[in-house]
Amino acid sequence: MLIDSHCHLDHVKLGDRVPELLARAGAAGVERVVTISTHVSRFERYRELAEHHPSVFFTIGTHPHHAAEEPDVPAAAIVEKAQHPRCIGIGESGLDYHYQFSPRDVQQRVFRTHIAAARQSGLPLVIHARDADEDMIGILEDEMGQGPFRAVLHCFSSGRRLAEVGVALGFYVSFSGIVTFKRSEELRAIAAAVPPERLLVETDAPYLAPEPHRGKTNEPAFVAHTAAALADVVGLTAEELAAATTRNFYRLFRKAAALDGLLSEAAA
Ligand SMILES: [Zn+2]
Ligand SMILES: [Zn+2]
Repeated sequence: MLIDSHCHLDHVKLGDRVPELLARAGAAGVERVVTISTHVSRFERYRELAEHHPSVFFTIGTHPHHAAEEPDVPAAAIVEKAQHPRCIGIGESGLDYHYQFSPRDVQQRVFRTHIAAARQSGLPLVIHARDADEDMIGILEDEMGQGPFRAVLHCFSSGRRLAEVGVALGFYVSFSGIVTFKRSEELRAIAAAVPPERLLVETDAPYLAPEPHRGKTNEPAFVAHTAAALADVVGLTAEELAAATTRNFYRLFRKAAALDGLLSEAAA
C-alpha cells in the first residue's frame, strides 16, 4: 500500500475527474490520498472531497503564493476548521521566494501563524519551502524554541542543510516526482541521507509528474513511480519503501491513523 501524502484534487486540471483518478490510484496500490489546502477560504471544497471519498483526507491552510490573499486569518480560525474529523494537518504553508507571488514579510507572518495553529491543534504542519532556505531555517529554529510542533518538509527541493535541520527538529521529509528526474543527482544524495523512518512520498499533483510521465498532468497513481525511484536511492525494495513510507505517514498524521483504526501501530 502506498499513500500520496500531498496532492491538489481541487485543482482545475483534476477536479472534474476525481472518482476516476481515485480508482486509478487504488488500482496502482495508492489507497490513501491527502488533498492539500492552498486557501483557508476553500475549506468547503476540501471538506466535500474528503466526505465524498473515503480514501481522501485533507488539510487546511494558506499556500505562500496566496499569503497576500488571506494575510490575516488567525490561528484560532485555522484550528477551528481543522477540527473536522477528516482534516489531518495544517497547511500547506511556508516560504516561496522563487515565484514570490506574495511579499516576503507577509509570507513569513502567515507561516508563523500556521506554526501556531499546528502547535495549538497538535496536527502536523505541511511546509512548502522554495529558494528560501536561510529564512526557513531561521523561522523553524526560532519557533521550535517557543514550543514544539510536528511537520513535514513537502516536495523537498531545497539544500542539504534545510533537510538536516528538519530531521534534527524531528520533521519528516517528503519527496515528489523531482527525485525521478535525470538531473536531480544532488536531491537523490540528500534523500539518501534522510533516515528511512522520516521519508514520505507524494505527487503534488497536478504538478511535477514523475518519469516516465514527466510533462503530463500528474495524478495520485503516479506516486508509485516516485516510490520506486526513492527505493533505489535508499537501497530498499519497492515493497519495503512502500511499507516504510506508509508507516511513517501514519506516525506523523496520527488523526489519519485513528480514522483507519491503526492508532496503536502508528504509536509503535
Ligand atoms: Zn507546495
Ligand atoms: Zn502542494
